[in-house]
Amino acid sequence: MKIDVCTLFPGMFDAMNVSLMGKAQEKGLFELRCHDIRQYSQDKHHKCDDTPFGGGAGMVMTPQPIHDAINAVDPNREAFRIYMSPRGKTLTQDMVKQLAEKQNLLILCGHYEGVDQRVIDMDIDTELSIGDYVLSGGEIPAMVVIDAVCRYVPGVLGNSEATVEESFSQNLLEYPQYTRPQNYLGMAVPEVLVSGNHKLIADWRREQSLLITQKNRPDLLEK
Ligand code: SAM
Repeated sequence: MKIDVCTLFPGMFDAMNVSLMGKAQEKGLFELRCHDIRQYSQDKHHKCDDTPFGGGAGMVMTPQPIHDAINAVDPNREAFRIYMSPRGKTLTQDMVKQLAEKQNLLILCGHYEGVDQRVIDMDIDTELSIGDYVLSGGEIPAMVVIDAVCRYVPGVLGNSEATVEESFSQNLLEYPQYTRPQNYLGMAVPEVLVSGNHKLIADWRREQSLLITQKNRPDLLEK
């Protein structure tokens, strides 16, 4: 899978070069390329923002540098193009799985008050939000999408079972997890987990998943 990101702050994506994402790139399982929108600005000072028509607070990212950046990066419109935006549909695990099936993604990160609507109309396939709150830029939301999607790229996770039995996989939240030591500060792990009885363990985990989901996210159970 190849992911291109168009951003005013490509340096922020250095955070994707460590841990699971870093290893996956080293292994060639996915390729992440970040493109500096400012380099495409035809303004003599490389300006990329201006005041909004109709008035209002803040600045809006101008269309020319973004349109040129996107079309230089994806000239044949092969990538599925996403604009990170609080106005978009909220990202879910099902959407993550669908995105992971694409060969190429292009992610546009906004800043300031967002981007000129004409770029969205011309160049973008979908607007995606990571939740009902407003961040200062689309870079962190883009990293959220990349991280979530890459976990579904074959080979990225050591154990592909990890995506089968985790929160949201069956509209349930995950059961509690424990590791060594068996006793810690006077607290023992639940007896059933050291019983060796796989059926009992599976039943206990299912029950715990249901209880946690009921408590924290009853809306998932309704699905
Ligand atoms: N004026 C915009 C609005 O009210 O919808 C908010 C702009 S926000 C300050 C700047 C940029 O951050 C947006 O263009 C978008 O790329 C990104 N952003 C902020 N919150 C986001 C969210 N919840 N999900 C995805 N992107 C977000």
